[in-house]
Amino acid sequence: MAVMYDRVALIGLGLIASSMFWAMKRADLAGEVVGYARSEETRSTARRIGLCDRICDSAIEAVEGADLVILCVPVGAMDSVAAQIAPHLKSGAVVSDVGSVKRAVIDAIGPHIPEGVHFVPAHPLAGTEQSGPESGFAELFDNRWCLLTPNGADTFETAKLRKFWEALGSKVDEMEADHHDLVLAVTSHTPHLIAYTMVGVADDLGRVTDTEVVNFSAAGFRDFTRIAASDPTMWRDVFLNNKDATLEILGRFTEELFALQRAIRQGDGDHLHDYFTRTRAVRRGIIDAGQDTDAANFGRYPAKS
Ligand code: NAP
Repeated sequence: MAVMYDRVALIGLGLIASSMFWAMKRADLAGEVVGYARSEETRSTARRIGLCDRICDSAIEAVEGADLVILCVPVGAMDSVAAQIAPHLKSGAVVSDVGSVKRAVIDAIGPHIPEGVHFVPAHPLAGTEQSGPESGFAELFDNRWCLLTPNGADTFETAKLRKFWEALGSKVDEMEADHHDLVLAVTSHTPHLIAYTMVGVADDLGRVTDTEVVNFSAAGFRDFTRIAASDPTMWRDVFLNNKDATLEILGRFTEELFALQRAIRQGDGDHLHDYFTRTRAVRRGIIDAGQDTDAANFGRYPAKS
């Protein structure tokens, strides 16, 4: 693969940025990758493990001369980081981000982008419950979707960024920002909130029943604990910045939960069976669409861990 951008700057060096670096190296997509993280600890870890070709001690230094600048910090930090780097961006540069929420991020970054610089927001739908500079790996984006929400951005630069994400291993689509936020509230944000809640409930019970919740933790609960181990800062920012869509989906979720609660109370087995048959079909659809690499586990109980 040919070099697509002579110099790429990664601001924030956690799971997503480090995975992008290794994927860029794998495909030889950048002449030079420059990195910056706010803490000295993360910068020295990055230097030690060879993350990025060069690590800078300031965000300003990192973006100077960069053709592509990607903000890989929590959603709530996008505004201040964009304000800091904006006056130092090269004319003609492209700024992008990887934030899990798009409308709030566009509103936070957009006003800082100077004349002559392009802003193309993006969101890779790929992650793990790990965080930090040592958690990344080149294959993270392989066969995963990356959604671009161009919001009127330059079409040439949008098409180029699409090719860049494809070269990182992703399938790419474009979406309007508000629609993105609603879709993600259903597929990612609310499920995370439910997992956090379930693990919280179990933790309260665990105090009552000593260590039984941990010792006899079955597949369903174990899956919840993996999701609920996700980074607290990142997820706090997701909910604070995708408030309306999350509250909308939570409202619908609560209605469904009450209906199931009533069916259990009334011994309405048909309702439960019909409901679970419908949800099982959703699962099959996801596997057929190739969106679960662990599909070999489907139908097995207990699931292989
Ligand atoms: P991460 O592993 O926790 O890394 C976050 C990075 O941002 C760290 O380098 C951290 O610096 C820096 N940072 C944190 N707070 C900051 C602040 N207030 N100002 C400046 N820098 C700050 O996070 P990640 O998982 O890579 O997530 C990064 C972005 O990708 C987020 O916007 C998230 O919504 C999005 N995203 C995440 C996933 C996922 O599953 N993890 C998937 C798709 C998109 P220090 O290390 O110096 O503290």
